[in-house]
Amino acid sequence: MRIVTGTISHETNTFSNIPTDLEEFGKQGISLGSDALARFAGTNSIEAAYLDAARQHRFDLIPTVWASAIPGGVIPRDTLDFLLGKLLEGIRAAGRIDAVVLHLHGAAVATGIEDVEGFVLESVRRLVGPEVPVVSTLDLHANVTERMVRSADLLIGYDTYPHVDVYERGREVADRLMEILSGKIKPTAALEKPALMPPLQPMVTTMDTPMKALIDLAREIEKETGIISVSVFGGFPFSDIEPAGLGVLVYSDNDPGLAREKARAVVRRAWELREGWVYRAVPVREAVERAMKAPAGPIILADIADSGAGGTAGDGTEVLRVLLQLGARSAAVCSISDPEAIERCIAAGVGTVISMMVGGKRDKLHGEPVEITGKVRLIHEGSFIRKGPQKTGQVQTVGRAVVLEIGGIGGIELMLTEHRAHPNDLEYFRAFGIEPLDRKMLVLKSAAHFRAAFEPIAKEVIDVDAPGITSPDLARFPFQHIRRPIFPLDRFEEVVPEPDAAANERE
Ligand SMILES: [Zn+2]
Repeated sequence: MRIVTGTISHETNTFSNIPTDLEEFGKQGISLGSDALARFAGTNSIEAAYLDAARQHRFDLIPTVWASAIPGGVIPRDTLDFLLGKLLEGIRAAGRIDAVVLHLHGAAVATGIEDVEGFVLESVRRLVGPEVPVVSTLDLHANVTERMVRSADLLIGYDTYPHVDVYERGREVADRLMEILSGKIKPTAALEKPALMPPLQPMVTTMDTPMKALIDLAREIEKETGIISVSVFGGFPFSDIEPAGLGVLVYSDNDPGLAREKARAVVRRAWELREGWVYRAVPVREAVERAMKAPAGPIILADIADSGAGGTAGDGTEVLRVLLQLGARSAAVCSISDPEAIERCIAAGVGTVISMMVGGKRDKLHGEPVEITGKVRLIHEGSFIRKGPQKTGQVQTVGRAVVLEIGGIGGIELMLTEHRAHPNDLEYFRAFGIEPLDRKMLVLKSAAHFRAAFEPIAKEVIDVDAPGITSPDLARFPFQHIRRPIFPLDRFEEVVPEPDAAANERE
């Protein structure tokens, strides 16, 4: 059997002013042809899952393109055209094929295309025709659309946030594909999109959240006869597009009514839990004071509104500013992305004390630049191997990096990175000579992915309410294109009908 694969993955924050162009994709290395797979062998990744499935099920896995960029702003149309062109070219060049297995995200937005994955899947479908199965994984934060569902035979989302089950979901997609090819199953989809658009934190699955409850319910339903797969997509609220928000996608084995019934059951539960989708973070000053007063660390101060995994500027300064104001010590900040400051530190050299303005430079949404004086303690090329539960074994790069020591040894260690970074692995500190276990406070620019690696070492996690474009307070965003009313942005008791009624009306 000959099965073609490809990866085009991006989560687009439409409030970001950083276009996700080929240069942004290039920071994680765009791969073409056989290179697109080789580097993932043995890692915790979807690509490795497909490689292992190919070995087990004895099919040829034909690579085309691998492109994944750190979340950021809208993808320029020519960038999407280039990447999709490589995928289609690869499929065409493969000749006779039995299936296509993709790795897509589900919340990518390009100029003029709010549903990139729908566009990609439709383009692939048009090329391979109706008979060749097309399947893909999707991220838990996918803003799933009918167009995606219509164009694919099977789409399966992650069950975890932090996403630690990407390998398992990749295997599931590949294994189910074998059953589709052998005629054993006929996936039949039902997608429900209730008027819910939660912020990210209630989607975390390492604690009791509405999302955790829905995923547990989905796993129960999956055990029932005739059900192939149940995915709950929390959606990505920072894509200001019509389909933004929660989605429930159920595949039955050739039974549309059953799929619809089960999808509605999950949606009903999502509505019952609706007050749990509202999230309030802790004001910055209160959070830092609490961390300073704590008897022991590490206390995580999560700068959730400037999350590298959510497409923010990555140079937010509010938490650092308050740390400095309050004279905090034994605090490590990961990280502020500031290429200009990096240049200055490198020019000054290791051991030099330097004063400058850092951060707050990319836009006006992540705080003002803050003045610091610190010693350049380390200059680093910026690459390391990930050791935590996410993307284990993969090489990570943050561009060139500098550690600045503010207030002498034991003061504030500020990591500056050239690229926007997303600390969700202890190596973000250890690779740069900082032992996170020894620090009282760790500031992490991450909405929730940090939890997989850092919850086990943290005495406490405090989600901090600093400014930024992944803030859980959705009322701060100038939405123009999302559906209204939508919860929790709109208080809806009077306007939104009961889920059953809402579903029936769409019939
Ligand atoms: Zn995600």
